[in-house]
Amino acid sequence: MMAPRLEVIQELKIGYEIPYLTDRGDLIDSITVQINEQRQGVDISYALLEPTEQNLDNLFPSKGIDSLVQMTKRILRDLGMNPPRIILQLWEYSRTARLYSVEGRAPVNKQRDTVLIILTKNPFIYKFGYELVLWHQAMHAKDRWEHRFPSTHPLVEAGEWLDVLWHFSIDGRLQNWGKPHYSRAERLEEATRVLEGLCQIKEPHVRARELCDELWGKEVTLAQLLEIGRELGVEPASGL
Ligand SMILES: [Zn+2]
Repeated sequence: MMAPRLEVIQELKIGYEIPYLTDRGDLIDSITVQINEQRQGVDISYALLEPTEQNLDNLFPSKGIDSLVQMTKRILRDLGMNPPRIILQLWEYSRTARLYSVEGRAPVNKQRDTVLIILTKNPFIYKFGYELVLWHQAMHAKDRWEHRFPSTHPLVEAGEWLDVLWHFSIDGRLQNWGKPHYSRAERLEEATRVLEGLCQIKEPHVRARELCDELWGKEVTLAQLLEIGRELGVEPASGL
C-alpha cells in the first residue's frame, strides 16, 4: 500500500495586504490552505472535483508532481527568489466552476515569506505544458515579492486593463532573459482587445501599441500602471 496522498497534513493561514471584498461587502484578508503532501521541501495542496486517491493519481501522478516541484524551485531560484515556504496548489479543471483565471495565480503573503502558486490543469496546460505558465506566474510573484506590487488576496481582480499592461513588462523581461514567454504580438493583440472594450479610449490600436513600446521589458510598479490607467480614464477594481 502506498501512503495516502490526500490527507490534510497541515492547515496554513496566509495573510494579504489587499483584502478581497465579497459580494456581501465583507473584507477577507487571509486564506486557509490545506496541505496534502510535502515534496522536496515544497508544500502541495490539491483541489479535486472528485477527491479520491485514484482520481489524484490519474490527474497528478507522483512523478509528474516531483518534476513540477523541481521546475518551480528552479524557476523561482533563477528569478532570484528564495522564499522560506513555497506552496503549489493544483486544481482539477471544471468547465462550470472556475475560481481563478486560466493562467493561474501566484499571490505572495504580507510578510513576504510564502509564495503560493495556483495552477489549474486545464486544456491550456495540456496543450502548452506547465513551464510557460510557471515562468509567467513566477514573474507576477517576483514583482510582488520585491514590493513593486502589493501582496494581494488571490481572489482580488485588479481589472483586465491592468493585467495586460503588466504583461507587456513581464513577457518583455522574460524575452530579454531568454526564458519562455508569450510573444509581443500575442500580448499586443490581448491589450488591443481589452482597450477596445473600454469605450472611453480613443484609437485603442494606437494606444495599445504605444503602451507596448513603452512598457515592453521594463520593470514596472503598480503605482506606474495606475497612473497610466488614470491617463486612459480607467479605474482599478477592489480598492487597489
Ligand atoms: Zn498574468
